[in-house]
Amino acid sequence: MIPPNPTPWEPRVWRTELARAIRSSTDLLTYVGTELADATDLPAFATLVPRGFADRMQKGDPDDPLLLQVLGREEETREVPGFSFDPLEELGFNPVEGLLHKYHGRALLIATGACAVNCRYCFRRHFPYAEQREPQLQGAVAKLAADESIKEIILSGGDPLLLDDPALGELLDALAEIPHVTRLRLHTRIPIVLPERTTAALLDRLSNGRFRTALVAHANHARELTDETARAFACFSRAGVALFNQAVLLRGVNDTVEAQVSLAECLYEQSVLPYYLHMPDAVAGTHHFAVSDAAAKSLHRAMQSELPGYLLPRLVREEPGAPAKTHI
Ligand SMILES: *Cc1c(COP(=O)(O)O)cnc(C)c1O
Ligand code: SF4
Repeated sequence: MIPPNPTPWEPRVWRTELARAIRSSTDLLTYVGTELADATDLPAFATLVPRGFADRMQKGDPDDPLLLQVLGREEETREVPGFSFDPLEELGFNPVEGLLHKYHGRALLIATGACAVNCRYCFRRHFPYAEQREPQLQGAVAKLAADESIKEIILSGGDPLLLDDPALGELLDALAEIPHVTRLRLHTRIPIVLPERTTAALLDRLSNGRFRTALVAHANHARELTDETARAFACFSRAGVALFNQAVLLRGVNDTVEAQVSLAECLYEQSVLPYYLHMPDAVAGTHHFAVSDAAAKSLHRAMQSELPGYLLPRLVREEPGAPAKTHI
């Protein structure tokens, strides 16, 4: 249910939650009371799971769909043909540090390399920016200001809402100076994994800016949605932010009709519309999540026969060089 009078969280709560996040696979397995033989920690892509997210896992279940998204496995170190370090060839699209302009009319700004959770299937897991300096804001803004075709700025990452309120405010101020940019989009997993980040200062900032603002959340399974996420979404909605979700289709996590239909329905309960269902990118270390095109298409057809059109996400994949996401 949508809380009628949602209250934002106090400003410091999210930092505390982030500081006490789980940072090892052993701790995670202990926390959920289960075991998995090939669980491991990989220094190149650390274990990071907020406790609020771990609380939604089924205790004692090693196949829990939330656990599988965030638990490091030995499996990830296996080299598999066809899975590469930069399948989207994005490193070549980086004219200014942190700016990706691949599609007409919208440009994507890596606001920070950090995330509140490390998802094992992430296509950016090998990106150098994760351990690098923050993007060069001034260079990016100059580049955006010089291209009048850009109407929309997408803040991505990493997770842009991991910036604190002053840093985000500074970034939005700089973007607001660019007259041809009218739309702002936040691609963030934070309302799901760290809803406590929804502070009054953040909401004020979003509701008082001059942009038409959308938030694209990232939930993959209905069980990720709780009263806390409902509260966060209700706060954003009251601040005038349009709410969408993109999910990644992951083997063993959400590759059934039941899981997808339930996700779409639960999102809508929280005022969020399904937007994309992404095929996982062929990133090294993620082969165990791969779903075939044939299986994905038949799943999507079955979803279509069970869901109203407005709750059916578009099944897409990203292909290097394509002018938009490729519909499957
Ligand atoms: C996915 C993506 C977008 C957004 O595409 P939409 O179809 O508008 O959601 C924009 N820029 C880049 C680089 C992207 O990867
Ligand atoms: S939150 Fe998004 S960017 Fe961060 S690790 Fe998860 S999928 Fe990747």
